[in-house]
Amino acid sequence: MYKSIVNYIKSIYIQTEGFIPLHEPRFRGNEKKYLNECIDSTFVSSVGKFVDLFEQKIAEFTGAKYAVAAVNGTAALHIALQLAGVKQDDEVITQPLTFIATANAITYTGAKPVFIDVDKDTMGLSPEKLRAFLEEKTTNKSGETYNKLTNKKISAVVPMHTFGHPAKIEEIKQICDEYNIALIEDAAESLGSFYKDKHTGTFGLIGTLSFNGNKTITTGGGGMIITDNEKLAKLAKHLTTQAKVPHKWNYEHDYIGYNYRLTNLAAALGVSQMEQLSAIIKSKRELAIKYKAFFTNTDIKFFEEPTDSQSNYWLNAVLLKNREERDKFLQYTNENGVMTRPIWELMNRLPMFKDCQVENIENSEWLTDRVVNIPSSVV
Ligand SMILES: *Cc1c(COP(=O)(O)O)cnc(C)c1O
Repeated sequence: MYKSIVNYIKSIYIQTEGFIPLHEPRFRGNEKKYLNECIDSTFVSSVGKFVDLFEQKIAEFTGAKYAVAAVNGTAALHIALQLAGVKQDDEVITQPLTFIATANAITYTGAKPVFIDVDKDTMGLSPEKLRAFLEEKTTNKSGETYNKLTNKKISAVVPMHTFGHPAKIEEIKQICDEYNIALIEDAAESLGSFYKDKHTGTFGLIGTLSFNGNKTITTGGGGMIITDNEKLAKLAKHLTTQAKVPHKWNYEHDYIGYNYRLTNLAAALGVSQMEQLSAIIKSKRELAIKYKAFFTNTDIKFFEEPTDSQSNYWLNAVLLKNREERDKFLQYTNENGVMTRPIWELMNRLPMFKDCQVENIENSEWLTDRVVNIPSSVV
């Protein structure tokens, strides 16, 4: 049966000779033109028209009032957490089933992650599990939420929209509001994904995006902070540009800032990629429909977008029967010219996060044994 899957995927990517990668970028628009323009202008670094234009295009597309470009998605998330007021020795709730960057960015602030389970139908943070944890294991101290076990303040919740499939973000937002905890959405994988017609990353206080080489669109490396809060947007720009006080020649700084601004060169790619975003999403959704139809006739389950959602289908995912079948599938496909990859190892199983608090994470454990990504580049 695995042979027919490999053949099917090869038939989709007819133009690809040899090994079929999991996700490769496509540069079919004005990339070279804008890059040349950028080089000719000499504005190749963090000042230039493409950075501003890229920010505008992201704000327009997502419906966020403000967008601030960053050097990558991890840096964007680091800044977002700082802006939300996450401090040394706080705790931040996130899911154990995510890419390492989510947990790393939390750690950069000096806070510690607490891992709460995901839902099986979204692979994103479970509102039920989040509520149960907050009800049973936390206490309210002058309007703020503290972990009863550690006596630490819980200052943010960071759900992640896995592979572009929106989490139940409205419910999560409701719970965060009730407990007065900042909601920061890691929307690195979900540019072009909507929950009830609202773009992912725009539900909470701040959302962050990534334009790494394997993401839906790419700037080589890049990220974005999106928010409706003007004050936070201004501070985001300030912090990502070394917190330099604006002046024609003086070098004065008023915070510990970061060299986190996206370069104009990278943004030139981004502007061109944004011009193609609608076509990219359309193609990715068409591919998902094809995969869905194909896998209906197999005993492998294709992971479909959750209800109330429109997914960008960044990385298509299938569910194998168990870990053993998963490993057989991975081995066969990778040995036969089709790149596939298991979902991430759970964060709480990694050495750096072994001592973090973990609640009952049976869904995450179930998914990490079974989920495999299959080739998802734009055809
Ligand atoms: C890609 C990604 C990021 C950010 O990645 P960068 O490579 O730093 O742009 C963050 N979180 C998740 C879940 C991601 O997939």
